[in-house]
Parts: sequence; C-alpha cells; structure tokens
Amino acid sequence: MWKWRRLMRLSNRSLMAFIFFFSMSTTCLYFIYVAPGIVNTYFFMVQAQGIMLRDNVRTIGHMIRLYTNKNSTLNGTDYPDGSNSSEYIAQPTTYLPENFTYAQNLPCPERLPSMKGQMEVNMTEVPMEEIELRLKHMDIQFGGHWKPKDCKPRWKVAILIPFRNRHERLPILFQHLTPMLQRQRLQFAFYVIEQTGTQPFNRAMLFNVGFKEAMKDLDWDCVVFHDVDHIPENDRNYYGCGQMPRHFAAKLDKYMYILPYNEFFGGVSGLTVEQFLKINGFPNAFWGWGGEDDDLWNRVHYAGFNVTRPEGDIGKYKSIPHHHRGEVQFLGRYKLLRYSKERQHLDGLNNLQYSPEISLSNLYKNITVNLNPELALIAEY
Ligand code: UDP
Ligand code: BGC
Ligand code: MN
Repeated sequence: MWKWRRLMRLSNRSLMAFIFFFSMSTTCLYFIYVAPGIVNTYFFMVQAQGIMLRDNVRTIGHMIRLYTNKNSTLNGTDYPDGSNSSEYIAQPTTYLPENFTYAQNLPCPERLPSMKGQMEVNMTEVPMEEIELRLKHMDIQFGGHWKPKDCKPRWKVAILIPFRNRHERLPILFQHLTPMLQRQRLQFAFYVIEQTGTQPFNRAMLFNVGFKEAMKDLDWDCVVFHDVDHIPENDRNYYGCGQMPRHFAAKLDKYMYILPYNEFFGGVSGLTVEQFLKINGFPNAFWGWGGEDDDLWNRVHYAGFNVTRPEGDIGKYKSIPHHHRGEVQFLGRYKLLRYSKERQHLDGLNNLQYSPEISLSNLYKNITVNLNPELALIAEY
C-alpha cells in the first residue's frame, strides 16, 4: 500500500511538471503567433547585442595587438568585416556649400546644402490639425503634392503608406517627412492606402493598390514604400531612386541599428516605376504579419537587380513604439517564399482587382479599400 502511494506521488509530480511545461510552451507559441512584431524585435535585439559584444571584443583585441606590436599603425581600412563595418568608413562631405545658387532650368542636385544630416526626431503624439497648421507655410497642394520652384526636381516620388487603425502615427510621420523631402528638393505626394474589412492586414496588396492609383495622377518615376511608424533620423537619406532598388531603412533603433539579416527589405524601400513594373509589384498573397518584404527581395533579385542602401548612419530610423498588438503571423509565408520565382509573374500588379474610395486632405490622398483574397486570384503553379 505504502509503495503504491509513493509511486502515485511520483507520477503526480511528473504529471504536474508535464502540465506546467505544456502550458508554458503553448503560451509561448501563442504569444509568438499573436505578437510576431514584438517577438521579432526582441529576437533581433538580442542578436544585435551579441554582434556588438563580439565587435567590442574584437576591437579591444585589435587595440591590444596595436599596443603590443609597435610596427603596426592605425589604418582606416583595417577593421573587422561584417554588416556594420561601413560605420568605420569616413563619410565624404561632398555636400554643396551654403551659397550655392539654384537655376530653374537645371536639375536639383542630390547633395544640397539644406540637407544637414542628423535630424531632431520628436515622437510626441500631436493632432493632425496641429501639423497641418505647422506645415501651412510650406505651400503643399491640397492632397499632399509639392514640387520645388527653384530647380527641376530630379525625381517625381510617390510616397505610399499602408495603413489601418494607427491614426496617432500619421501626423508624426508627416511632421518629419514633409520638411525633409522639401529640403531634398524632390517632387512628391503622399498616398495613405487604408484597409477596411475584416481580413488580416495585407501590406503588400495595399502597396499595389497605392501604386496603381498614384500612377493615375501623374507619371511618377520613383515610388517609396513607407511604413507609418518609421521616422528617418537623417535628412541626407535621399528619397530619390536609382539604377537599383533601394532599401532606405537600413538601421532601425528597434534592432539596435544593426541590419537584422542581409536580405531584410522592410520598413522603407524604393523602386523606380520601371523596376516595380518589371517585378510585377508586390505579391498579393501575404495576409497578416511577415514575409511580403522578403518576397519583394526575392522578386528584385530574380529580375536581376541588387539592392543598395544608404552609407553609414544615413539610413538610421526611429520606430514609433507600438500601442497595441499588431497583426497575427502569416504562417503560410514560408511556403510562399519557397515559390517566389514561380509566383512572381502570376501574382502581383497583373492579377489585382479592387474598388477604391478616394478622398483628399491637406497633406495626403487617402485611398480606402476593402481587401479580400478573391481580388487577386492566382493561377496554379
Ligand atoms: N500597419 C497598419 N496597421 C496594422 C498593421 C500594419 O497600419 O494593423 C502598417 C503600418 O504602416 C506599419 C506597417 O504596416 O508600419 C508594418 O506593420 P507593423 O508595424 O505592425 O510591423 P512590424 O514593424 O512589427 O514588423
Ligand atoms: C519577416 C519580415 C520582417 C522581418 C523583420 C522576418 O522574419 O519575414 O517580414 O520584416 O522579419 O521583422
Ligand atoms: Mn512597425
């Protein structure tokens, strides 16, 4: 009898342990599923801390070697390899002087004296009306369009912002971006593409809608895909396009200013209209959080492009902290990403139908769409 009870006690204990570990792991998995943004940020932060620690150890080792070996000299190029070694490269200061004079018939230069570098970033929440008032003197056309008068803009840039239920972020973004783009003497307009309906958020499909709508307004030659919560920290981060697609948001504060992985193409990116048409735009099949930016990276590379990024600290961004949980993870993304190449010409700009509602406000054009998977049917592949 005594033996039996002892055995029971033991098995009770293991049962309790099993229940404990089971509920812990289910809670973890559930959290990863419902709050992927937070989990990812945490994961990449830990990874960045590891990289920084490793770099510090290397630098200390290097200094010790220099100190003990009198024959070696401090050489500007003699730094460890890695995604952040660009930090060590001295930035050439080839910006035009203050007294530079503009000419109406000549293209606006890319490195203007008005682009001073590091900007003040203010994340304080502020009503849109307040920002409209503050930017009133800036001569923005109703609907958010502006072009320089003292030189010919080098790029006509449509800034597309995917959006749902984050109203407090828009004024913060406009407060920083509008003056920056004016200092860069770009022709620009803002498009906020807002998703309604009950489907999971589809950032990529919203960009496709925004692109098609923007092209009805003007023959834009460059398109910037801009998350609402990314604020550039440096006004030398020039929002024009180039020979190659560009990833502007190279260093995010939330990832400790270290690129989380080489193929990261999220946050803020830009393509010429020609490049975007060539890759058939974004995929429409990514519902929920994650993967659509990785698919864009694949598309760009399958089309024979490379991605460029701003040098050094120019690509720094601050992210407006999340108030509420974002979207749930899109679990189907890994499978879709395996077939990026096959889907590229079946799913994108060419299979998309939608009916937008359009309205104008002082600083931007709003395009509201109710999205669902039937709007972008895809042939078997
Ligand atoms: N977004 C939005 N509402 C949502 C989810 C996403 O407006 O409910 C837009 C917004 O522009 C945001 C971008 O999609 O910056 C990327 O989503 P999120 O910030 O949630 O992704 P994370 O930064 O966590 O990867
Ligand atoms: C996701 C991307 C996301 C990135 C950084 C990746 O795992 O697939 O969509 O932008 O993490 O958060
Ligand atoms: Mn975000």
